[in-house]
Amino acid sequence: MPNRNSNAGHKAIRSCVICRQKCLQTELLSFILLFSGIVYDPRRVLQARKYYVCPRQACLQQLPKWRKKRQRERR
Ligand SMILES: [Zn+2]
Repeated sequence: MPNRNSNAGHKAIRSCVICRQKCLQTELLSFILLFSGIVYDPRRVLQARKYYVCPRQACLQQLPKWRKKRQRERR
């Protein structure tokens, strides 16, 4: 099993759901999925399955599409 956090100390690494690029968790926007839509959690207070997206416009623009796809797949 590869140790993908080896050069990041104890910092959490997450990947963007759109481009799959790995970034520090602190550099990504976290959000949760509700039936009504996407809710950002900038203060990380929500207790739910988190998703991460990098704060680039290219990725943010794809989020609504990703969400639709995601909700179709999930039952
Ligand atoms: Zn991205």
